Amino acid sequence: MKKVVIIRYSEIFLKGKNFYFFEDKLFANIKEKLDGIKCFINRLNKRFFVSDYDVIDEKRIVSNLLTVFGIHSISTGVMTSSDDAAIKEYVSTIKLSAKTFRVSVNRADKSFPYTSIEYSGMLGGIVLKNNKGIKVDLHNPEIDLNVDIRDNDVTFIYHDTISALGGMPVGTSGSGMLLLSGGIDSPVAGYMMAKRGMPLSAIHFHSYPYTSIQAKEKVIELGRIISKYTGHFKLYIVSFTKIQEEIHKNCDGDYMITIMRRIMFRIAERLCKEKGIESIITGENLGQVASQTVESMTVTTDVVNELPIFRPLISFDKSEITDISKKIGAYETSILPYEDCCTVFLPKHPVIRPRVPKCEKEESKLDLETLITGAMQNIEIVNI
Ligand code: ATP
Ligand code: MG
Repeated sequence: MKKVVIIRYSEIFLKGKNFYFFEDKLFANIKEKLDGIKCFINRLNKRFFVSDYDVIDEKRIVSNLLTVFGIHSISTGVMTSSDDAAIKEYVSTIKLSAKTFRVSVNRADKSFPYTSIEYSGMLGGIVLKNNKGIKVDLHNPEIDLNVDIRDNDVTFIYHDTISALGGMPVGTSGSGMLLLSGGIDSPVAGYMMAKRGMPLSAIHFHSYPYTSIQAKEKVIELGRIISKYTGHFKLYIVSFTKIQEEIHKNCDGDYMITIMRRIMFRIAERLCKEKGIESIITGENLGQVASQTVESMTVTTDVVNELPIFRPLISFDKSEITDISKKIGAYETSILPYEDCCTVFLPKHPVIRPRVPKCEKEESKLDLETLITGAMQNIEIVNI
């Protein structure tokens, strides 16, 4: 008998021919997550389980697994051989702190000598004998004691199932460059795309000395927080100071933010091309602020030529975004009051329905190519 943590896959189960690609990736991601904890990760016919760990590490193993995309649920329990006597011996030691229970036997190994229903009854009798005052409730028990008799002489016995994050293993969908600000939304946007298996890189624009060093450190910290889920990634930090000064000096103030954003997207796309990254991700959300109207998204999308732009939060309510931000531990950092470069030189009346021709007219007052190549020459790279 051994203690084990049982890991169930989420929807990679549905995969056909390339199932093993997804399974291998999930296995590798779990291995990385449990690196540094003495344990053994086993594969067993569309399940993984962790064994051979010190009992004091079990909580840490579970909490680390709860940050891995591609896991549907986890149970802690024990593993025995699929031997009737061994199973009964273990079940006779179980003490349940509940008023009602049921035993659910699942028999994948059809050579096992009893049917599932017969065996549930037998094991239920053993539990009743050893737990005074407890009753069987087949429909709505407080505790469902699962006995999962699998192939290869392995039986799992457990009674707690913890929901995990679901999603797809990171690294199984094309890559994305997250536009990461210091706000609430963009870290959540990165988390949501990683949840669908997308490995991230991130780009942040800062306007030192108009924005502070702390503002930049806050973004690095947000990167660290989401990396718990997304895995390691590169954060590219671009100085936007000169570009902002030039826009401020030369262009219609009402178009300040619009033009800034068009230049951010241009730089992001160029960096993607340089690094072989296949999409751009933002935390934009329809109607949240003036720069997030359909027209504003049209004029920013206009400058991105070849890559898709993913806006996973487009239809979320702020409260839904905030809930996720809190759940992933980013919220407290996101609300630290450091300014973003978008708030520097903020116009009194930012345009709500910008038009492409007007953007182009304003941008013709800038030496765009020199500004963009200048910004791209001095990118700071932080390994998150
Ligand atoms: P967030 O909470 O993510 O900052 P927001 O509600 O403040 O979003 P905006 O400031 O309009 O909205 O920004 C919209 C999106 O543009 C952000 O979610 C982010 O993806 C990107 N963005 C904004 N500022 C920056 C920046 N300084 N560097 C990189 N990306 C940025
Ligand atoms: Mg912002």
